[in-house]
Amino acid sequence: MGVLEGLKPERVFYYFEQICGIPHGSGNIGQISDYLVSFAKEHGLRYLQDEMKNVLICKEAAPGYENSAPVILQGHMDMVCEKRADVEHDFTKDGLKLHVEDGCVRAEGTTLGGDDGIAVAYALALLEDKSLPAPALECLFTVDEEIGLLGADGFDCSVLQGKTLINMDSEAEGILTVSCAGGMGAYTRLPVKREMVGGTLVEVRLHGLRGGHSGAEIHKNRGNANVLMGRFLYDLSQETGFALVTLHGGEKDNAITRECTCTFMVRDEKDAKTAEDLCRKLTEALRKEYANIDDGITFTCSVVSAAAEENALVPTSQEKVIFYLMNVPFGVRKMSGTIEGLVETSSNIGILKLGEKELLAVSSVRSSVGTAKEALSSTLRYLTEFLGGTYTVEGSYPAWEYRKESPLRDLMVRVFREQYGHEQRVEAIHAGLECGLFYDKIPGLDSVSIGPDMKNIHTSEETLDIASAERVYTYVRKVLEQMR
Ligand SMILES: [Zn+2]
Repeated sequence: MGVLEGLKPERVFYYFEQICGIPHGSGNIGQISDYLVSFAKEHGLRYLQDEMKNVLICKEAAPGYENSAPVILQGHMDMVCEKRADVEHDFTKDGLKLHVEDGCVRAEGTTLGGDDGIAVAYALALLEDKSLPAPALECLFTVDEEIGLLGADGFDCSVLQGKTLINMDSEAEGILTVSCAGGMGAYTRLPVKREMVGGTLVEVRLHGLRGGHSGAEIHKNRGNANVLMGRFLYDLSQETGFALVTLHGGEKDNAITRECTCTFMVRDEKDAKTAEDLCRKLTEALRKEYANIDDGITFTCSVVSAAAEENALVPTSQEKVIFYLMNVPFGVRKMSGTIEGLVETSSNIGILKLGEKELLAVSSVRSSVGTAKEALSSTLRYLTEFLGGTYTVEGSYPAWEYRKESPLRDLMVRVFREQYGHEQRVEAIHAGLECGLFYDKIPGLDSVSIGPDMKNIHTSEETLDIASAERVYTYVRKVLEQMR
């Protein structure tokens, strides 16, 4: 007997438990993909499994819906694999150990994969239901969403008939997502020259910043350690001569940088003292500027060696590095004029690494408007090339732009009001969703994203709210029913 037996909707939780019994971490989706194929075969449904292991299962229109346009229901089959340090679990072999607690489904010590197993379970329950009043369904299960939207990127959308897509990868009941940002990794490489310099070696460490996610938290106006280190270096250059040796901040372009460390040569201890004084002054000034936002900003200065010799940047190279950091765009570029409170365009310089021969700086650029994303990328390119560097873009994904007119959105909002007795929140997010790729590949696509309440996704504390899962399932069924 299943742990989830008896929960409603029964068939949804039946399939959810089946899915949880099959290892399906990102990059390890062979078994779950084949399971979906065997489901289709068992139920006599038309299906397609592509080389990437994406699966499409199609169901004919119910009587009375023959003239309705087909609908795409979509979710991703892979899950994030995280576990508590004290838990033994092999995500490549073991099924999840489910239990029910406080009205939620959880997995013991691991992620649950409610994100996005619940979408898969919903779709399978709808596909098997012979009495479902609905138009033709195209249920698309994508692979490896969590590691860069790979399945959605690779899927050949020309096989789809539908122009209406309901993505079921959101985590809050009552919110209808209708637009998301596109993004890219913007890589700047500035060539640098070095020469041997003797004197005093000083280290400056900038730390104590709050950081955060460059999609979810860029509007909080927190400091970025790479940018603020640029300001320190500029100020220092106004007070004393120095020569940079190392400079390093951040490991991920989508994390607002919390720490940055540099070392540089100065003539003597007196100049080192100048740097130390500046650290104190700047700490004080920035804590004031970032009051209530980033109160912990701290520059720490120490002398590494009073008599050192290091391979340091030549002055022209150093000036280019400082110029770049003083001018690189960071933070919110523009708020949306259509959706209140939405960050439309932003960038974050999340990685900074000074190597032997070059400075590498990587920014995460986002915008929910395609042309604005390109324009910001052009700014970075121009700045880079002006300084004699090379600029490349990696991992670019398209924006899911807001549609002024959206019959699907109108229907979703109306059915929600009927079912819940209050208004749904219509939102856009400043992060990537698979919808962006479908929006880009299916001309005229009308889509929304929904999902039941889940908490702490991508962590071992992940929960799926059972009552919410039931209401959202009912909601999806009602929406389909109304598509006559
Ligand atoms: Zn997801």
